[in-house]
Amino acid sequence: MTDTYNAADLPFSGSPVVPEMSDGSKHIQFQCRKGISCWNACCSNIDISLTPYDIVRLKQRLDISSGELLQKYTVPYELEPGGIAGVKLRPVENGTACQFMLPEGCGVYEDRPTACRYYPVALLSMRKQDEYTDTSSYALVKEDHCKGHFEPRNLTIDEYRAEQGVTEYDELARGWRQLILKKKSSGPSIGKPTKRSLQLFFMVCYDTDRFREFIVSQGFTELYDIPAEEMTKLLTNDTELMLFGFRFLKQVLFGENSIAMHQETAAKRLEKAQEKLKQLEEEARAKRMTDSDEMYEDDGE
Ligand code: SF4
Ligand code: SF4
Repeated sequence: MTDTYNAADLPFSGSPVVPEMSDGSKHIQFQCRKGISCWNACCSNIDISLTPYDIVRLKQRLDISSGELLQKYTVPYELEPGGIAGVKLRPVENGTACQFMLPEGCGVYEDRPTACRYYPVALLSMRKQDEYTDTSSYALVKEDHCKGHFEPRNLTIDEYRAEQGVTEYDELARGWRQLILKKKSSGPSIGKPTKRSLQLFFMVCYDTDRFREFIVSQGFTELYDIPAEEMTKLLTNDTELMLFGFRFLKQVLFGENSIAMHQETAAKRLEKAQEKLKQLEEEARAKRMTDSDEMYEDDGE
């Protein structure tokens, strides 16, 4: 099964995606059903990117921590070279099949990831520079092994999305997709992301339980002013925590302030950061002067 999600970069060259984009009203001919000759063929060779909400659903389904899920069932990959990371489903050891594939079908069917739900439709999200609103369009993936395209059933992409229950998944991953699109389209003007910001993005988006520990840490509670009622929700509800995480990243990475801060601590931290910046500038100036002195000495020899 090809990753049909997360395709902000158009994946048409050499891919099985039919290069025709359309909206949800387009009709497709498709049906996947038990008993079809290609049953499980798509899950035998996977390339499935996961959204943060996919991770929440899977960890709850398997009743394990996000850390354990990430370790056993996923592999990280770069969403852009040297930039933010995504995670994909990890296939079985020494193979290409999904670890959740059973002879009777998907072993986590009710909580299967977004890409599995969408297949064979590809969702393409795009946004304009400086906008958070993304627009979705769709393309069809036609792979030789998939015989569902020959089944006599016709429906619109919107009907297919509703049938597969992707509306909720899309809604809950929207903040994450917007962050990725904003990061990708902000380009080099924002500068190379620091290692710390990349780690923060990974923890907030994928390692929900570690993010939960982070928001009760002294450093976080000293800086952010979260009402008790909201904090209780974040500590007990993975989805609420995930959505809060998207807001937190928008604030930290793009300066969109929606989370209240303790003004006194924030002012102290700003002062400390400015001092550090001043110190770095002085060090750089001193180094430049030493370098130029050495250059004159070399010339005099
Ligand atoms: S999660 Fe389920 S539907 Fe998705 S690839 Fe694995 S077995 Fe197939
Ligand atoms: S019809 Fe397509 S999606 Fe369904 S089992 Fe066959 S290969 Fe997979």
